[in-house]
Amino acid sequence: ALAREGLDVAYDGRVYTVRLQADPHAPPAEVLLPPDLPVEGKALQQLAALAALHHPDGGRVKQVRATPDFHPGDSGVAIGSVVHTEGLVVPGAVGTDINCSMRLHVADIPVDAFLARRDAFVERMKGHYFFGTRDVAQGSRALEALLRDGLPGWLLETEGQPLGMAARMELGQLHRESDRVYLGGALEGDPAWAPTGLRREGVVRDPSLATIGGGNHFVEVQRVEAVVDRARAWAWGVREGQLAFMVHSGSRDMGKHVGRTWQERARAAWPTGAPHPGSGIFPLADPTKVREYLKAEATAANYAFLNRLLLAELVRQTLRELFGDVEAPLVYDVPHNITLPWEGGWLARKGACPAEEDQPVIIPGSMGATSYLMRGLGNAKALASASHGAGRAHSRFSMSRGGAKHREEDLGLTGVDCIALRAERRIEEAPAAYKPIGPVVASQVDADIIREVARLRPLMTFKA
Ligand code: 5GP
Ligand code: MN
Ligand code: MN
Repeated sequence: ALAREGLDVAYDGRVYTVRLQADPHAPPAEVLLPPDLPVEGKALQQLAALAALHHPDGGRVKQVRATPDFHPGDSGVAIGSVVHTEGLVVPGAVGTDINCSMRLHVADIPVDAFLARRDAFVERMKGHYFFGTRDVAQGSRALEALLRDGLPGWLLETEGQPLGMAARMELGQLHRESDRVYLGGALEGDPAWAPTGLRREGVVRDPSLATIGGGNHFVEVQRVEAVVDRARAWAWGVREGQLAFMVHSGSRDMGKHVGRTWQERARAAWPTGAPHPGSGIFPLADPTKVREYLKAEATAANYAFLNRLLLAELVRQTLRELFGDVEAPLVYDVPHNITLPWEGGWLARKGACPAEEDQPVIIPGSMGATSYLMRGLGNAKALASASHGAGRAHSRFSMSRGGAKHREEDLGLTGVDCIALRAERRIEEAPAAYKPIGPVVASQVDADIIREVARLRPLMTFKA
C-alpha cells in the first residue's frame, strides 16, 4: 500500500529505503522506523523527491535520512528529514520556521509547592504569553547586534542599556549559560534581513518577540520523573523530582519572512527552460545566492534564539516572583530547523535534532506523554541526527473532525492541564494526535543514535 506510483520502497523491519523510479541515480533515502509505528506513503514520496533534487548548474544531494517521528510536511518536505548536499542548498528543506528548537530548564522548586500556587502562576503566564503584559522593549543597537552576531552581541548591548523585562534579568547568569545554547546562539547574520519594523532607531517593541506561536509550539512545565544516566544528569544539572520547563518555539514572523522570500527566490533563480523539480522544491546552486541565503537564514535563527530566551525568562521571572530566588538554570537549547556546514557541504534538518557526541538531545512526547532528555552519540550513519519529538500520527484536520472521538479519554486528555489561547488547540494537539513516544525513542537507542539521560512528565502546557 506504501508503494505509490513511481516509488520504490523496501523495508527490512527497521529501515525503509525509498527512491523515485524516475531518478535511479539519486541516493536512496533511508527512514529509521520500527514496525509498530505508522508511516504514510505521502511522507515517503516527499523524502524520495528530496533525495532526487539536483540543479542544472551542478550541485547534488549526497545523503538523505529521516527520523522515526517522520510524517508528511505541508510544504512538500517531510518533517524529520535530514539532507546532506554538496554545491547546493534547499531553503524548503528548512522551511519557514527557521531555528525552531527545544529549550529545557530545571528548577529546584518542590512540585507540591509549585502546584499549590498553580493559579497564580497560570494567571501571570497567560498575561505574558497571550495578553501582552510582558515588556519586550529592545534598543535598536541590541536588536542589530542580535541579528548580526546572535545572543552574545545582544547580551553586551543589553547590559549597557537593559530595557523592559531585561531590567529584571540576571544578565550574568545568561552569560554563564551561553555555552548551553547550540553554537552559542551566535550565527553570522545580516540585520538588513530583518523586516522593516525591526530596523527602526530607538526603542523597538516587536509584537512577535516572546510569543509561542501557533500549532504545536508550547511552553510546558514538567517534573523530572526519572534519571537514568546519573553522571550525565548530574553534569547537566538535572535531578529526579525537580521542576522543569520546556520551550518549543522558533523565529515567528522573521523566519516566515526569510523562508518565504528565499523559497520564491530559489524558484525565480531556476534556469529558464530547465525542467522543474516535480516536488515544487527548488534548490539554490549559485554560490553568491547560497551565501546570501545562509546569511538570511542565520539572521532569522539569531532572532529565534532570543525569542526562546525571553519566553524562558518570563517563566524564570514569574517563578522568582512566586518562590523567591530560584536559579532555574538552562540545560540546553537545540534547534531542529536549520542548515549547517557538513563535510564540505551542508546539512539541512527539518524537524530533526542534532545528536552529536555527548550533546543533550531533547525529545518531547506530547502534552500527555513522557518527554526525554537524551545524549547524542554522533552516529555518522544517521547524519548525527535524532527525532525532535514523537511525530504527528493524525493531521490537525482529522483531529478536529473526529466527531465521536472527542471524548477526553480517547484523546488522551484525561488529567492534562492545557492552557490554550484557542480552545481548538486542545483537540488538535491532543496526545492522541501523536505517535507513541516509547518506540520512537527505543528505536533510536537500538540504532546507537542516542542514549537516555532522564524522563520528564508534563504538569501544565501553554499553547497559543
Ligand atoms: P514540531 O517541531 O514538528 O512542530 O513538533 C515537535 C514535537 O513536539 C511533536 O512531534 C510532538 O511529539 C511534540 N509535542 C507537540 N505538542 C507537545 C506538547 O504540548 N508537549 C510536549 N511535551 N510535546 C509536544
Ligand atoms: Mn516550529
Ligand atoms: Mn518545531
